Amino acid sequence: MNDRKDERFRPATELVRAGRRTEWTSDPRLGGGVVNPPVWRASTILYDSIAEMKARGHATHDKLYYGRRGTPTVWALADALTGMEPGAEGTLLYPSGVAAITSGLLALLSPGDHLLMVDTAYEPTRQFCDGMLKRFGVETSFYDPLIGAGIGDLIRPETKLIFLESPGSLTFEVQDVPAITRVARERGVVTMLDNTWATPLLFPALAHGVDVAMMSLTKYVGGHSDAMMGSLTATPALWPRLRKATYQLGQAVSPDDCALMLRGLRTLDVRLQRHGVNALAVAEWLAARPEVGRVLHPGLPGDAGHRLWSRDFSGASGLFGFTLKGAGDAARARFIDALAHFGLGFSWGGYESLAVPADPQAIRSATAWTDPDALVRLSIGLEDPADLIADLERGFAAMGGGG
Ligand SMILES: *Cc1c(COP(=O)(O)O)cnc(C)c1O
Repeated sequence: MNDRKDERFRPATELVRAGRRTEWTSDPRLGGGVVNPPVWRASTILYDSIAEMKARGHATHDKLYYGRRGTPTVWALADALTGMEPGAEGTLLYPSGVAAITSGLLALLSPGDHLLMVDTAYEPTRQFCDGMLKRFGVETSFYDPLIGAGIGDLIRPETKLIFLESPGSLTFEVQDVPAITRVARERGVVTMLDNTWATPLLFPALAHGVDVAMMSLTKYVGGHSDAMMGSLTATPALWPRLRKATYQLGQAVSPDDCALMLRGLRTLDVRLQRHGVNALAVAEWLAARPEVGRVLHPGLPGDAGHRLWSRDFSGASGLFGFTLKGAGDAARARFIDALAHFGLGFSWGGYESLAVPADPQAIRSATAWTDPDALVRLSIGLEDPADLIADLERGFAAMGGGG
């Protein structure tokens, strides 16, 4: 395999080649090499001499120095994720998606700064703004996900960062990312996007003007519900700041988990396509059911976000929501408890389907979620959608009438 870094291939091909540099998969003294970067477990790195030890202290991130700075297994995953985002300089890895978000915000914000946070952000992102960031003197204003270029009216001299998440957590509003990033660049404000739902395969974030793209790798990249990790992939301008802060915060990931993530990455393209097809089939079926109020899936032509989604995304993943018409907590519990193929649990993006109750009312402040019907979020897995639909039908039967 040649290592020409400048040569780019189509995304599915990149996923197969990604992170497999010859120096990480072979040893010239042994001859030949292996397909996958082996798991290099290390805390201590041994040096040949004092002179070499001194020289390595100032080395770049992809030379062996000390376990916390990573080994070839870690660099292979980071390199692979960078390769998926055209325009990216590098990727930093964190032990969870939340750690990626909080480390990015800590790296880029200082006391006295102002942050514009989308109102439909993942709940722990909001909690970090209202908690630790506030304590450290950073003020957060939450904004309507549908604000588009109107974000310019909310920018103050001290506004340093605009955080986006599209589609939004639980309610799936699609943001006009290019409009927001255009205004942000004109005004010298950095943008960071939670791209967990789409991954760069369905939405290359940096190509849409985003400066820092975040992913919870726990979801689709891992894909098997057995490992947690997060990533930040950044432009050349921001990469050095993020790397410095990440070293200072002592963020490190396990090479074993990186090997699991690399394994997931190889099949991400085919899995996402199947998740997308299955989820759309279930969403369309739900939209025609009398028990359903509305389906929140930007791939449906009637969805409020459909126009922007069609313009900017090359597909949909498997996560969406729907409301149960006239139902409250108790009826929703009867519905979910009756499901057999859908597991009841947090997280999503694994090969198995999940259903959870969702209550966005309490975690919105710039907008209001006023729909009285109980909301359910589905993560559609790789099962045959006909079996999933039969399962949902059982749920409707068990729900019966009443709140
Ligand atoms: C799950 C999730 C995260 C956090 O990821 P963890 O790996 O669970 O910490 C961040 N953003 C979104 C949109 C998520 O769904």
